[in-house]
Amino acid sequence: MAEHYIPDDLPTRIRHYIDGEFVDSVSGRTFDVLDPVSNTTYATAAAGQKEDIDLAVAAARKAFTAGPWPRMKPRERARILNRIADAIEAQETRLAQLETFDTGLPITQAKGQALRAAENFRFFADLIVAQFDDAMKVPGSQINYVNRKPIGVAGLITPWNTPFMLESWKLAPALATGNTVVLKPAEFTPLSASLWAQIFKDAGLPDGVFNLVNGLGEEAGDALVKHPDVPLISFTGETTTGKTIFRNAAENLKGLSMELGGKSPAVIFADADLDAAIDSTLFGVFSLNGERCTAGSRILVHQDIYEEFCNEYAARAKNIVVGDPHDPKTEVGALVHPEHYAKVARYVEIGKTEGRLLAGGGRPEGLPTGNYIAPTVFADVMPDARIFQEEIFGPVVTITPFADDAEALALANNTRYGLAGYVWTNDLNRAHNFSQNLEAGMVWLNSHNVRDLRTPFGGVKSSGLGHEGGYRSIDFYTDQQAVHITLGTVHTPKFGAPAAQ
Ligand code: NAD
Repeated sequence: MAEHYIPDDLPTRIRHYIDGEFVDSVSGRTFDVLDPVSNTTYATAAAGQKEDIDLAVAAARKAFTAGPWPRMKPRERARILNRIADAIEAQETRLAQLETFDTGLPITQAKGQALRAAENFRFFADLIVAQFDDAMKVPGSQINYVNRKPIGVAGLITPWNTPFMLESWKLAPALATGNTVVLKPAEFTPLSASLWAQIFKDAGLPDGVFNLVNGLGEEAGDALVKHPDVPLISFTGETTTGKTIFRNAAENLKGLSMELGGKSPAVIFADADLDAAIDSTLFGVFSLNGERCTAGSRILVHQDIYEEFCNEYAARAKNIVVGDPHDPKTEVGALVHPEHYAKVARYVEIGKTEGRLLAGGGRPEGLPTGNYIAPTVFADVMPDARIFQEEIFGPVVTITPFADDAEALALANNTRYGLAGYVWTNDLNRAHNFSQNLEAGMVWLNSHNVRDLRTPFGGVKSSGLGHEGGYRSIDFYTDQQAVHITLGTVHTPKFGAPAAQ
């Protein structure tokens, strides 16, 4: 096996960033950070507790109430956001190396993430400059207009899959709209988040506007969710965690955006372009190591093409290159952490009792260590199977046959999740009717997940609450105050006035 790649100048100590300074936890506590290829500790990270969150929120609050950021003209903020995007692009290679080292994502896919992160900042820079709000006129009597305002300190809590990109997704709109933030990145992957501080400082973001506290979800994350001076929480992660946060945020009635888990169907009708569908459904579940919220992890195939599809799909899955995440030839790398590896490996074993194993089924040959799982395909999986119902979040896919559109729809919607859906057909009516009846926040027709940043992003059912993306993100991170102006005479009933004679 190739020698384990270690990026240059790898930090061995990852700290918080509060009010423009790198700091340790007040308690001095730390946690270990492993890389997924050697599963050894390469760094320790500051383990934030309530007192660290208190300091970060106080800094963010001061920057919001007394600092320049919320008061700057959109164009001034946009210039800084564009400088941030330039800096991300300039560091693309370094960023991708760190991300790949920390997460185990294949390097070619990590590169795309950095560019997408930069794009998020450019997009919201453009949007706030172009943004205008409604004014409503009642001729001769009233004008009403919307005064849009940033809300305050936004708490941003993010997962470990594509960490830097997902952080950018929240940071860009939260900052663009003039809020200040406290970011709590995932504890499995704190490395790339530590780059934000310097990027922001160099771009001219005032101190205190961006604060970062590392730590465990139950400690640092929990304290952020419960903090009374944090009116907004944007969370991406597991559905069970989302429910806990929802309960904990209720006490202070916080604004919540929840991007949660998924178990998305990819439905292949007999009239589909089969080659394109196979390319896309392979990429849709095995890219990003299958650690992808929108993964098309349940493939439903019309019975007339079922055997042909299964055979071709499995043959391709067996050919997927699994290996060192830093090797540009690698298509599936190492799963993020031994705990997650153990979870996915358990599902693979469960799958062997629930479906017909067509490819994979455990650790690939030649990779005796590291969190590697061969792309695993189970056919003939019934809807009551656990591997059909539960989010595995790894390179594991189920294939199930259907007889007609009604059965396909029932199977597709037979899950508590509702994040994405993928439909493959060349029949225009079927494509639209079927898509519109899917219980999914997002549907892709004859494509895998390619997203225009203006479109709404989010799930229904247990996959989330609220939609972000484009103007919806602007709405989430701002208050729309209505200001009403009377133009004519005010016709007010005269309470307490002497009765007319
Ligand atoms: P997770 O829920 O375990 O953790 C996410 C974040 O929440 C981490 O930063 C964690 O520290 C924090 N956290 C945990 N407990 C907390 C608590 N009690 N209070 C506050 N914060 C807490 O999720 P994960 O394992 O990191 O990520 C994988 C999950 O994320 C999958 O379910 C995946 O589908 C989902 N995901 C969803 C989307 C989407 O847009 N819908 C995108 C990416 C990932």
